Amino acid sequence: MPQTISTRKFWIGQVRNMAIVFAVSVALSFVTVYLASKGFTPDDRIAVLWMSALVPAAVFPFAMVYVGFQNLRVHRLHKQVHHFANSDDLTGLANRRCFHREATRRISDAAGGSRSIALILVDIDWFKQVNDTHGHEAGDETLCHVANTLLRVAPQGSLVARLGGEEFTVLCEVGDEADLGRAAEALRKGIEATRFYYQGETINVTISLGLSVLRSGDTLATLLSRTDKALYDAKSYGRNRFELAA
Ligand code: GH3
Ligand code: MG
Ligand code: MG
Repeated sequence: MPQTISTRKFWIGQVRNMAIVFAVSVALSFVTVYLASKGFTPDDRIAVLWMSALVPAAVFPFAMVYVGFQNLRVHRLHKQVHHFANSDDLTGLANRRCFHREATRRISDAAGGSRSIALILVDIDWFKQVNDTHGHEAGDETLCHVANTLLRVAPQGSLVARLGGEEFTVLCEVGDEADLGRAAEALRKGIEATRFYYQGETINVTISLGLSVLRSGDTLATLLSRTDKALYDAKSYGRNRFELAA
């Protein structure tokens, strides 16, 4: 999942907090020692000096362990909330929200080098029939099967997400349109060729794909809309195929 909460950063923060509390404790000790040297009788002075050294030394470790555990709990909760907010319950892929945020970031960071950002929209063919023939649970398993195959076959570094229902996206980097076509064909074949069994029955799954390469001036909305038209064409021309956006 892109942009996860970093445990490394959390521990760096913890060490920094510890250093701050330690520095404050030492500073307090110095202040107490200074006050003791000024305003107390000689007898009291010894006691105050001991206190100024012992109190921070005793309190500091307990305070840090307590605060550390509280922070660790908050950090774990934060990670859980982040995971639930960004992943699709059923397939574990990035969800629509995560896709939109990450794709917007990748598009605005696009450097314009030799490789271009490309979008592939994937829609399972005749998926309603899978539900109607084999039941809703079989439909759910089919969605997981497609998700896993997309993850396995998509070009390295792709952002694979479930937009909703039986629609998925693959945001990837390609050399050119021919390269994108090869990536899409690999996905199509990967799904078609993998036999998927549910409770002893074979479920034949195929997908249709719309493809488009990012153009100058594109936003995520324009890229999505163009790719969606290509997907619509792939459906109209008979399904189990890909179409490149005009
Ligand atoms: P097409 O080839 O034109 O895409 O046909 P289709 O049957 O795939 O498309 P349609 O939009 O008619 O049906 C989509 C179905 O997807 C209907 C809905 O019940 C089902 N569906 C959506 N989300 C889920 C889900 O999370 N689990 C299951 N099992 N079915 C779902
Ligand atoms: Mg659909
Ligand atoms: Mg469909």
